[in-house]
Amino acid sequence: MKKIFVTKPFLPKWEEYQHYLKIAFESQILTNNGYLHQEFEKQLINKLNINNISLINNGTIALELAIQALELRGKIITTPYSFIATANSILLRGLEPIFIDIEDNGFNLDPDLIDEIKDQDISAIIPVNVYGIPCNNKKIKQIAQERELRVIYDSAHCFGVKVNGESILNWGDISTLSFHATKIFHTFEGGAIATADENVKNKIDQLRNFGFQSDGDVIAMGTNGKMNEAQAAMGLALIPYIDEIITKRKQRFNLYIEYLKNIPGIKLLSIPDDVEYNYAYFPILIQQGFPLTRDELFNKFQENNIYPRKYFYPLITNFSLYKNYNIISKHKITNAQKIADSVLCLPLYPDITENDIYRVCKVIKIVSYYKRY
Ligand SMILES: *Cc1c(COP(=O)(O)O)cnc(C)c1O
Repeated sequence: MKKIFVTKPFLPKWEEYQHYLKIAFESQILTNNGYLHQEFEKQLINKLNINNISLINNGTIALELAIQALELRGKIITTPYSFIATANSILLRGLEPIFIDIEDNGFNLDPDLIDEIKDQDISAIIPVNVYGIPCNNKKIKQIAQERELRVIYDSAHCFGVKVNGESILNWGDISTLSFHATKIFHTFEGGAIATADENVKNKIDQLRNFGFQSDGDVIAMGTNGKMNEAQAAMGLALIPYIDEIITKRKQRFNLYIEYLKNIPGIKLLSIPDDVEYNYAYFPILIQQGFPLTRDELFNKFQENNIYPRKYFYPLITNFSLYKNYNIISKHKITNAQKIADSVLCLPLYPDITENDIYRVCKVIKIVSYYKRY
């Protein structure tokens, strides 16, 4: 039986990629803000409807650069329900993450809990728009203003997501993106930073290039966060496909809903009305009323050559590094724990076939009947 993986990178036609790569070959400019890099930035600004963007070599360095550019100190409030890079970037910058719980009926950090953290040493919040579902920005913005905190959105999942017609990459002081091969839009590896603040943008552009100023002097401890021309070539070759990618994902997403909507104990993702979603993931929650636990269902899938992903599991706070990190304060994170223990992201990519989706859903259906009758 053919294996069905949780995702598969979308690729342009080879000739389309080659067209751009050839430009780099012929100019012999392979990195350092080359032609493709410049062109890719321009097209992204257009496509995403944002003020500006800085391309970065991956989403993790993008987070680190965001923290550095805002000159954050002390502690940062964030969520344990994310990919490890969110919290690692905080530690890597020498700051301390404070983990708070996610919302009762969702996947994102609960803004109401921010005010319970009285610590005076907090400089920022890093919320994550998990699966591309937007956080409660209104509330986060209000609290951030009241307490004079900066906000960096980890928007690694959010390529193309809009609320009331506006890109959510405009939210916060900074939003970061990931263009990793497993993300909805990719450049093999890659990332980007969006900020409306011209000064912050200029600082990021310096920091991603070792801290060099235009006069050749270095006054800040920059890193090498540059995107190269081979990455930019992939981005340019994929931009024309992004609408098709999202449309195809939407069709497949809706097919899943069709097949799975009435199964007791299986909870599906709901998309708020004002959100123009990008259909980046298809998470399901295995809850009370379903005969198997999440792990039992996961094993059942594997027996059938289907490989969904426990995403996110474990919680960041359950990785040894964080468990053993005795400076990290512990707050109640019971919602996050519940979700991490019950979530599975099902296979979803632009050209997964209807048949394959049916095969995935059949596993769930058969198991649900078998045990109940
Ligand atoms: C993928 C991801 C990152 C890291 O991005 P990379 O490009 O892989 O470094 C950060 N945060 C979240 C939520 C992610 O999913």
